[in-house]
Amino acid sequence: MKRRLAIPLTHPRYESLRLREMLVEQYETGVVATAGLIAHGRGEAFDYLLGETLIPPAMSAIKMAAASIVIAEHPVISVNGNLAALAAREVAELSRVADMDVEVNLFYRSQDRELAIKQVLGEAGVKRILGVGNDASKQIPELGSERRRVDPRGILSADLVLVPLEDGDRTEALRRMGKKVIAVDLNPLSRTSVSASISIVGNIVLVMPTLIDEVKAIEQSPREKLNAMVDRFDNRKNLEECIRLIAHRLLDLRLQDQKLPKYLEAAD
Ligand code: ATP
Ligand code: MG
Repeated sequence: MKRRLAIPLTHPRYESLRLREMLVEQYETGVVATAGLIAHGRGEAFDYLLGETLIPPAMSAIKMAAASIVIAEHPVISVNGNLAALAAREVAELSRVADMDVEVNLFYRSQDRELAIKQVLGEAGVKRILGVGNDASKQIPELGSERRRVDPRGILSADLVLVPLEDGDRTEALRRMGKKVIAVDLNPLSRTSVSASISIVGNIVLVMPTLIDEVKAIEQSPREKLNAMVDRFDNRKNLEECIRLIAHRLLDLRLQDQKLPKYLEAAD
């Protein structure tokens, strides 16, 4: 696909601008919804507070997520427009490495968007894509939005669902159905983070490669060991650590220590 705007490699916020550009490009192809752009902005704000890195509690949550995926009977990755735009190749790799089904599930469902996402996933190497068109023939109870429609071969029969960039209502509905829910969400205060079984507070573009590596590292571990590890995990406590870390970071931040642009140094 053609780049809309060439970002100079030397730009101090190159990576952030690159992600924005990926989203805008995929917005124009119909993969990303308008509200998806707003959700990304909300995520960026939290990423600043986290220092745009994978914080230690996120690393612990990733280890738990990997163990849970390895011991699950039928783990499924739920894909929306933002995930397809930012990490389609990683979705393909994780589904291969961890033997996970991949299902398209959208808040703003339209046939065009489903097909656009299916195409992006297919090009990234996902072989079997569930949840498109009439395949999403069943419903998650007590859920109002279009997200209630699910594929009986995927999310409906899953025991574990990985839900990156998810909405709170749906996370709660999946939990009520008895499923283990792993969220990836930069906001540790969102309803999604609070109601998921395991919440990974970090940017999806950093989380996915690390999660893939972690699955590879532990897939041969004895199941009893993984089970014991997962049973000990306390998600609320982990989220509190994330929030404490943000608070400490803000209190410790000395703007004096930050490098000023040259023209401001001169003005001082
Ligand atoms: P909730 O419904 O859980 O209370 P919300 O309504 O604020 O949260 P949604 O739009 O439903 O938010 O979900 C999108 C979530 O995805 C937001 O919490 C946002 O911080 C997060 N998010 C956006 N971009 C990323 C990203 N690149 N990586 C991880 N999380 C992200
Ligand atoms: Mg929401």
